Amino acid sequence: MNLHLSGIGISRGIVSGRVMRLSDWPEVTERRMPPRQVEAEATRYLSALKHADEELGTIRTEIPPGSPPEIAGFIEAHQLMLRDSTLSSAVVEIIRTRRCNAEWALKLQRDELVAAFESMENPYLRSRRDDVDQVASRVQRLLAEGAGKRKPGNACGDDNTPLILVAEDISPADIISIPHRGVAAFVTEMGGPLSHTAILARSLRIPAVVGVHHARRLLREGETLIIDGKRGTVVASPDEPTLKAFRRQAREDRRHQQHLRQLKSAPARTRDGKHISLQANIELPDDISAARRINAEGVGLYRTEFLYLNREDLPDEQEQLRAYRKVIRTMKGAPVTIRTLDLGADKPLDRERSGHVSPNPALGLRAIRLCLNEPALFRPQLRALLRASAHGPLRIMLPMIASLNELHRVKALIREIQTELDEDGLRYDPDVPVGIMIEVPAAALAARLLAPHVDFFSIGTNDLIQYTLAIDRADEEVNYLYDPLHPAVLQLIDMTISAGKRAGIPVSMCGEMAGDPGYTRLLLGLGLNEFSVPPTTLLEVKHLISTSDSSELGRHCQRILRSSSPERINRMLAELNRG
Ligand code: PEP
Ligand code: MG
Repeated sequence: MNLHLSGIGISRGIVSGRVMRLSDWPEVTERRMPPRQVEAEATRYLSALKHADEELGTIRTEIPPGSPPEIAGFIEAHQLMLRDSTLSSAVVEIIRTRRCNAEWALKLQRDELVAAFESMENPYLRSRRDDVDQVASRVQRLLAEGAGKRKPGNACGDDNTPLILVAEDISPADIISIPHRGVAAFVTEMGGPLSHTAILARSLRIPAVVGVHHARRLLREGETLIIDGKRGTVVASPDEPTLKAFRRQAREDRRHQQHLRQLKSAPARTRDGKHISLQANIELPDDISAARRINAEGVGLYRTEFLYLNREDLPDEQEQLRAYRKVIRTMKGAPVTIRTLDLGADKPLDRERSGHVSPNPALGLRAIRLCLNEPALFRPQLRALLRASAHGPLRIMLPMIASLNELHRVKALIREIQTELDEDGLRYDPDVPVGIMIEVPAAALAARLLAPHVDFFSIGTNDLIQYTLAIDRADEEVNYLYDPLHPAVLQLIDMTISAGKRAGIPVSMCGEMAGDPGYTRLLLGLGLNEFSVPPTTLLEVKHLISTSDSSELGRHCQRILRSSSPERINRMLAELNRG
């Protein structure tokens, strides 16, 4: 009867199997305790915490050999959370003061922690609320079942039909045991593409669709289900023609993936022999191993903000030097472009120190403006970067430059620090390239004037689009207006590439647009020959490069640039992508 549901495909792969519902947790209610039972309740809670910790310890020993190292890191993070006072003594305190049952005290504390994470603007940090939720759920289950009695994992399929797990949410720890339990894929009501669960599902190649509303209500135990983890589709009780169509699609996807894997060691070259540099964006230190695995030609964007977020203190020069040196060493001689701190707007630092609240953070003291305003924040980073430059080919990239004056101020600071390092007898590369991101329309419009003063440009389309079209990229209400194909955006990209070429400096693109295979041919046609993309899309972009003819694309793209009609631009792009 084909019941179609949709969600967010977070880990690709098409699977058909039978629904296995993860049992739903009982509703938690408040029970008041007589004073003499309060201490016993606190002990019951602490014992459940201990068992949760032991359970995770066992799961850690079950991590399949050869799994990415971050997997153990996720489990360890959950164990640390269990041992943290916010989940131990704080909950015991609630039990004692409210004289309530442990389940209720944990629920109150969980709600408070989740609300704190949800109020964060940064999508990465916001998605960490899922970790709190998953850790709390684990303890709730143990409390409900009686700590120590629960065996991790459910029964697996008794025939050879794969099982598809359907749940409200699944923790990263539980994902690890999934393949041992005959489970081939999962569907959840909660979750997003940035959660640890999603990252882990991709690492372990478990197809999954998350954010499927009412999945538990709509999907029955044992019914046949097909999921497409790339396109985010779920079909329950499919009829024969639907099953056939999915199987055909699965065969095509498998062939395509095999082909992509073969591209790992191939150079990125167009059909007419033009070499394109394909580098990786690094968000978190663990992404470096992914970049190495797919033979990225270098790191085109290392976002350093994550060293600063989610902590009370600031990373000092030594800590930063260690982090930067590690990336440089891991990349074994390939170029590494490290971007200086881009805090502010959707990645706020604790502004209580200055007591200033920006009325419009995206237009306020963000990125290079914040750094120039706070040398105590910026200097240690520049010192660490310069010192790291002695260990391999490093490029320093400045975010959100809008005027030459800002660039001159940074360069003066770099010269000052170089003198200090000379005095301290510390090594650095005196010719370390310094480039800028082109992500403010003013910089794109003045690219011709800025080019002689820098060693490279990198186009940050995420912000360039936000500022050109006056659309807050973090505001869901205006997301629909966010358009990389807007004629104004295309003109600015074209101007930047041309200005770089005329000045003889490399021009790269590191915004999300570069990693979207739908735009690869357009960008090639505009003359872009350096792409920096998330490791997960690099091979797909390489595939498109290797099936394109750059000289032919150039002619088509000039026509696109001359068009003012969005419909015509979309049509021409679709033609370009078909050819
Ligand atoms: C961009 O703006 O395109 C970019 C790469 O920087 P971020 O997304 O970190 O602002
Ligand atoms: Mg940016």
